[in-house]
Amino acid sequence: MVQEKKIKIGFDLDGVIIGRPPLVPRGLLERLFRGTKDSGLIYRFPTGKRHQWLRKISHHYFFRPPIKDNLAFLKKISQDPSFEIYLISGRYSFLAKETTRWLVKRELAGKVSRVFINEIDLPPHIFKKKIIKKLELEFYFEDDDQIVAFLRKEVPQTKTYWVDSKSFDFFRIIGQ
Ligand SMILES: [Mg+2]
Repeated sequence: MVQEKKIKIGFDLDGVIIGRPPLVPRGLLERLFRGTKDSGLIYRFPTGKRHQWLRKISHHYFFRPPIKDNLAFLKKISQDPSFEIYLISGRYSFLAKETTRWLVKRELAGKVSRVFINEIDLPPHIFKKKIIKKLELEFYFEDDDQIVAFLRKEVPQTKTYWVDSKSFDFFRIIGQ
């Protein structure tokens, strides 16, 4: 019997599965964590201890509600043997613990094939490109339109889709 090849799918975390802190305007987050919208793919790596600490606090699961429908959906397809699910986040190394804790708390830990976080602190889009290429993903879901454009150009063999915090029609998108 020929075993059917699994479909490899990757998801970004923040903005796709993990929501942003309530009451903090998106514009402010963007100003803190990357340049302004017009400066393109420029990210600020927080070097100072206080900045890293601030960012750690803001990534505590308490301040990061799940995007409920997307999380529920992800749990569901993770049980489907026809898919191999990867989580690929640009979060820097110092957020590893917060990220693991979030995934445990939301009962997603252990349900996906592998979780990649940006442990070598590359610019997030470069990190994502590297992992997506290595895994030879068929699909990748991302909420940052500039990263989507970058990945479509750099890794054309993977179909990268822009999604937002509203639940997305996954099966329609991947045409299953
Ligand atoms: Mg994101």
